Amino acid sequence: MLHNRRSFLKSTALVTSAAMMINDPYKAIAGSIPAHFKTGTMKLTYRPYTLELRHVFTIATNSRTTTPVMLTEIELNGMIGYGEASMPPYLGESHETVQAFLSKVDLSKYENPFDLEAILNDIDTIAPDNTAAKASVDIALHDLIGKLMGQPWFNIWGYDKSKTPNTSFTIGIDTPEVVRQKTKEAEEFKVLKVKLGRDTDKEMIETIRSVTDKSLTGDVNQGWKDKEKALEMLHWLNERNMVMIEQPMPKEQIDDLAWLTERSPLPIIGDEGVQRLTDIKKAVGVYHGINIKLMKCTGMREAQKMLTLARSLGMKVMVGCMTETSCAISAASHLSPMVDWADLDGALLIKNDVFDGTKIIDGKVTLMDRPGIGAVKV
Ligand code: MG
Repeated sequence: MLHNRRSFLKSTALVTSAAMMINDPYKAIAGSIPAHFKTGTMKLTYRPYTLELRHVFTIATNSRTTTPVMLTEIELNGMIGYGEASMPPYLGESHETVQAFLSKVDLSKYENPFDLEAILNDIDTIAPDNTAAKASVDIALHDLIGKLMGQPWFNIWGYDKSKTPNTSFTIGIDTPEVVRQKTKEAEEFKVLKVKLGRDTDKEMIETIRSVTDKSLTGDVNQGWKDKEKALEMLHWLNERNMVMIEQPMPKEQIDDLAWLTERSPLPIIGDEGVQRLTDIKKAVGVYHGINIKLMKCTGMREAQKMLTLARSLGMKVMVGCMTETSCAISAASHLSPMVDWADLDGALLIKNDVFDGTKIIDGKVTLMDRPGIGAVKV
């Protein structure tokens, strides 16, 4: 299996780099500065904020009621781009680490904001990791550029706004009563995402199935440890109209995951195991597809490259999120016309959103016709 994976990678490497060179919107942007553009000094500001969740949120590994975020702005000649970092605690970033990272970002040294590639590559080298902090600069810069160009990002990337998918709505692990209640409340959504990975998995599914027969996606968050049992469970879920499974086993159990993917009746999507662009080639044969999240991969630029690369390798693609305001959700939603599954319910899970942007209408991701990421302050 490992050997097959390696030889497959070698044969696809050339094809992939050629495909990516043809389709690089960032080269086009760097070379097409609008005539009305006046150079100036970009200024980055940021403020910590705490999102309050509507319900206690429980997944295989933890529970919580709040999520810290950092709201960023990049200002240039009176135009403002908005960005955000979301830091669910288990990923290791916090208000303090994001603040420390952003204090080292000096945008005043760049005269040309359109050279996103050079600026963002530079920012990536300030320190390793800090992916949410990096995303907060990336998103604000994309928003600013889109506004300067007078274009929404789905247009700049060349995606068809009408092709956006339905988003799934997440049902966390809970008592049967609460699960039934939450399932009923989620009537608007066409797809429900069920958090699995505890010994109550079958009970969760049976409870939901007692209320609805709509499509389900499942997220195990690395919760299953035994591959034979995992395969048995995948067959059981397949018989109950489950359409895909995220991260069934720990990301370190690569050979077990590859074994499972080879036999699974359902598509297996890597989330915790696939963070950045460089992880994708290693994911071939281990997973059928990847879950792209801006906070994992440093933002919109790398996310779009991951989408392009995964597609050229014949992989499935999902776009996901953390609990975030409509700022980061809007940013991620511009990728959604090109994905198999969207899981962009993050702003619906919070009580104190501070942006208006991409909406979920009748369960469908609905992009706004606004320049940039399409988020405005409320
Ligand atoms: Mg996941």
